[in-house]
Amino acid sequence: MNDVIIDFHAHAFPDALAARAISQLEHGGGVRAALDGRVSSLLASMDAAGIRTSVICSIATKPEQFDPILKWSQAIASPRIVPLPSIHPKDPDPVGQAHRVAEAGLRGIKLHPYYQDFDVDDEAIFPLYRALDQLGLFVVCHTGFDFAFSRQRKADPVRILRVLERIPSLRFITTHMGAWDDWDEVEKHLLGKPITMDVSLSVDLLGRERARAMLTAHPADRILFGSDSPWSGQGETLGLLRALDLGAEREQRLLGKNAEALLVGRTG
Ligand SMILES: [Zn+2]
Repeated sequence: MNDVIIDFHAHAFPDALAARAISQLEHGGGVRAALDGRVSSLLASMDAAGIRTSVICSIATKPEQFDPILKWSQAIASPRIVPLPSIHPKDPDPVGQAHRVAEAGLRGIKLHPYYQDFDVDDEAIFPLYRALDQLGLFVVCHTGFDFAFSRQRKADPVRILRVLERIPSLRFITTHMGAWDDWDEVEKHLLGKPITMDVSLSVDLLGRERARAMLTAHPADRILFGSDSPWSGQGETLGLLRALDLGAEREQRLLGKNAEALLVGRTG
């Protein structure tokens, strides 16, 4: 099998910050990283797992981090690394920043409702969604609960639906099988609908049967492989996914084909 494999959800940091970032996040979330957080380590992990491309999701925890993250994203962009910068919802000019992302030739952004303290359906964030939609940029958004935060419903399936009902063409990518550790709600509100979801940090928690049932009930063109590396091993996540026996067609779409279509972008 030489089909292309794309990890749509990974993290890495500038070399000078990686050690500190990883240890802070390990302590904040009570988790262990599988890698040291450097891009070179991610590339080595990709080589070992047969992954062609990884999407690196950065998170601006303050508006001022937009510029340095954008610069770093431009510096590391390559056929193997697709960096997503991050716009903070409290940025004085989020729409202008979306234009800067597009002008820099980058494909989308990452949002994180917990680290950036907003609800996904906040009225104040819709101008940014509309700009992303018009520019053809996608947004990878953390959805569901987060193990490092208390369980407020900031990005749950009902809120996600409210966003997509208003802007159905927005290329909004949910993470963690629709909403992390809120999978009853995912089954109730999102499953079977044209809503894109990555599968990061979910298959082992859901267990093989439930993960398989969800991934076969959802449209085959709306599922994406994501590992959330370094918070899980890329190779291990691939192993779990292959063991689901989704069938060759659905598995190919999940592991890379759907991601490739998203990265090619919207034309015309
Ligand atoms: Zn993540």
